[in-house]
Formats: sequence, structure tokens, C-alpha cells
Amino acid sequence: MNEMLVKIPAAVPEMRAVFDAQRAAFLRAGAPSLQERRTDLTKLGEAIKQSAGRLAEAISADFGNRSRHETALGEIMPVQSAIRHTLRHLPGWMRPKRVSVGLELMPAGARILYQPVGVVGIISPWNYPLNLSIVPLIAALAAGNRVMLKPSELTPRTSDFLAELLGGLFPSDKVATVVGGPDTGQAFARLPFDHLLYTGSTAVGRLVMQAAAENLTPVTLELGGKSPCILGEDASLPGAVESIVYGKLVNAGQTCIAPDYVLLPEPRLDEFITLTVDTVEKFYPTLAGNPDYTSMVNDRHYRRVAQYIAEAKANGARVIEINPKRETLPAEGRKLAPTLVIEPGDNLSIMRDEIFGPVLPVKNYRSLDQAIDYVNAHPRPLALYYFGTDQAKRDKVLRKTVSGGASVNTTLFHFAAENLPFGGIGPSGIGAYHGEFGFQTFSHRKGVFLQSRFNAARFLYPPFGRITDLMLKFLTRG
Ligand code: NAD
Repeated sequence: MNEMLVKIPAAVPEMRAVFDAQRAAFLRAGAPSLQERRTDLTKLGEAIKQSAGRLAEAISADFGNRSRHETALGEIMPVQSAIRHTLRHLPGWMRPKRVSVGLELMPAGARILYQPVGVVGIISPWNYPLNLSIVPLIAALAAGNRVMLKPSELTPRTSDFLAELLGGLFPSDKVATVVGGPDTGQAFARLPFDHLLYTGSTAVGRLVMQAAAENLTPVTLELGGKSPCILGEDASLPGAVESIVYGKLVNAGQTCIAPDYVLLPEPRLDEFITLTVDTVEKFYPTLAGNPDYTSMVNDRHYRRVAQYIAEAKANGARVIEINPKRETLPAEGRKLAPTLVIEPGDNLSIMRDEIFGPVLPVKNYRSLDQAIDYVNAHPRPLALYYFGTDQAKRDKVLRKTVSGGASVNTTLFHFAAENLPFGGIGPSGIGAYHGEFGFQTFSHRKGVFLQSRFNAARFLYPPFGRITDLMLKFLTRG
């Protein structure tokens, strides 16, 4: 830790004091036992279960309307599943791993020890404010760390609720929540954490990495981007469309791994449009007063997405708004009707920015190779979806494209599988977490070499002679 390089703004001495207290407590107490970690995770899970109703109310109030069921499925369930999975597997994850040293170094032994790194920082966004704060917290605590959390200012009720809930469960030298906006975030990212996990936009991710670099703090960046969805020629459309509509409209499209746009074979366009309209009408027969249909989080995001649609229309793209009962959607409610944009030009904002709203651009392709080339000509995405039954084509898409994760014949679900690493690549992120990958992200893997009583290395000590030459002949053999 190099204090000279850390410039903490005067307004945040409290934050620094909390950090120092956590660091001191970590040094004093060392790595917590398996039992202590289990107790912490169990009480966290219990408290969230008890507060599930009030959390859903806070999140809904922050959004304007956030479906209670979406909160149960997208926030509470993943947290409980992460806790269950971690409690079950933690003993195995923590156990030192015996590894072989190879013939040359025999008969020594070697182990990998998993040690907590110390004090971990977590910066979380607003779109899944519980999930994206607590699932990283679970991994960091499982690995035995102290944690400071900075949730988003755009969901203030939820952030306050989290601060209160965590404050009631843990002393602040174990888990502390810092609430505040970008200035606070900036100062937070400059603390000399032992690891910093940031979830949010790619633009802010760059700033976070720059701030962390001052302290050589390792980062995990969970960022965004445009996740493509490729429909193969042999995709079964009704099921594919249901999954795409679900993935796009859950949380009104404000999901980092939502399918951003669809690439489909030209002859299937009309069928795709008809099925999408039918599916939206089935899922959401009304929009304005429908509690299942979530609002845009604030006016800025509402106007941003509305502007994408306006720009597409102004440029002559075919825009299909799906508003089953032709309701008026008052701007105060911040609900945007699900909208298809057919064949938008790549110069439009909707094809350049991550959409993060209930709008789905659809583009034609003539061959699968053309679709793959399109994906590869754009920044590496966080997720990629492929629909189709032919395994060779599926494997081709998976092999020839590079994305953070992928789901085949469905959307979103690679996020839910605890044994899969979750993370991006390039502009969609650095590193991964979930399950054991989260435990490893927040652990130091210490390589330990255990020399045996018979120390063969002694034959390599000077003065060098015939035995050294014989040893070298063996060690440098082809
Ligand atoms: P954001 O970058 O605006 O904010 C995220 C967090 O960063 C907030 O807590 C904010 O206060 C903080 N922050 C803002 N400026 C900061 C700074 N200069 N230094 C440090 N912290 C700062 O992101 P957002 O709008 O809340 O989230 C939306 C984006 O996040 C989308 O791009 C989405 O794809 C992405 N996302 C990614 C994942 C993932 O798991 N990969 C999950 C959800 C969202």
C-alpha cells in the first residue's frame, strides 16, 4: 500500500477511517474460520429472506414500478441460490489443493493455499440493486474478506435499505456500506483496496480502473455492451421468440445481458415480427397499469431510449410499437411500449449504444458467416445468444465469436448457473465471479513449495562438477 499515491478528497475522511478500521481488523483477526464464514452467510441469507417484501417495495419505489415477481426472480432468488451453493461447497473451495511438482522437483510436495486478500471494495449499479451488491458480497465474505460496498445513487431507497440491513448484521469493520453518487464513487475507487469489483457502464469502468491503478488494486469489471442474438435458419421460432421477448422485456430491458439486437435469416423476418407482437400481447396484455411491466428507472434513461426510437423513425427505419390496448403511457410513469426497429442503419444510436430499454432492433443476414462477421466487427459483447438445432452450426457460432458468456436456445440463463463463470471480455468486462469463480476472484492463491527431507536441489549447488552436469543433462533433456 503506497500512501503517497492515494489522494482521498477531504470530504471523505470517514470513508478512509472505515477502510483503515477494516484493514486493522483484518490484520488483527486474520482469515476467518469456515464456521465464521458460514455463520455470516447464513445470517445474511436469513435477513434477506425476512426483508424480501420490504426490499421489493423499496426497489419498486425507486423504479416507479418494478414488478414484484421480477424482483423475486432477479434479485432474491439469485442471492439465496448463491448462499445455498456457497454454503454447500465452501469447505471444498477453502481446502488447500495438493498439486504435483513434476519429476524434476520430486520428492517435494506443493499446495495452493486460498487466502482472503483483505479489504474488498464493491461498486454496484441500479438495475439489479440487490443482486449486484449482495452476490459479490457473498463471494467476498466466503473468501474471508472485509467488505466496503458502494451501491448506486439512482436507487436511493434500496441503497439506504441495504446500508441499514448490513449495518444491523455486521460490525462496520467487517461490512460497511457507503452511500453517495459519482463523487463518492470516485473517492471510493481511490481507496487502496486489496480487490475492487465494479459493476456498471464501460465508460465509468475505465475511470474505476484508472483510479485503482494508482494503488495497483486488482479489479474485476462487470461492464455492459450490445449482446447479440442470432437466430439460426433451423431455429424453432415460437419458443425462440418467447425467450427473446422475455429476456428483452424483463426489467423493461434494463438488464446487462438482455439480448440487445436480433440477427435473423431474411426469409424469417415476417414470421418473427408476427410472433413477437403476439408474444408481447400474451405476456403483457396491458402496459400502463400492469404491475408486471417495469418502468424506466428515471427520466434521463426514459428520454434516452425514447430518443433512440425517434431517431430511428426520423431516419426512415420501420418502427413497430407494441401497445396491445393502445393505451396512453404518461411520461411520469416512465413506461415505454415494447418496440421493434426493423433494419436500422448501423449509423443510428440504437445500433451504436447499449440500448438498456424495451426496444429490439432486428437485422437480416444472408448466411450464418455474415452474422458471425457482423458480431466480430463490433466490440466483444457480454453475452451472445444462439437459437438453432444443428449442432455444427451452434458450435461454429460459439467457436468463432468471443463473448463474456453465451446461452443456446434461451436467453439470460447462463447467469443463473452457479457453476459457470460470469463476466465479460474486453469492453464488456475483466474477470468473473459467481460460485467458485467468485471465491477465487476474492482469494489470493498462494503457491507453497514443500521441500522433502531428501533435497535433490542440493546437487545443483556450487561448486559445480560432474554430478551437476549429470543433473543438468537430465533436466534439459528434450
Ligand atoms: P454507472 O456506471 O453509471 O454506475 C454504477 C456505479 O458506479 C454507481 O454506484 C455509481 O455511483 C458509480 N460511479 C459513477 N461514477 C463513478 C466514478 N467516476 N468512479 C467510481 N464509481 C462511479 O452504471 P449504471 O448506469 O448504474 O449501470 C448500467 C450499466 O451497467 C450498463 O452498461 C449495464 O450493461 C452495466 N451492467 C453490467 C452488469 C454486469 O454484470 N456485467 C450488470 C448490470 C449492469
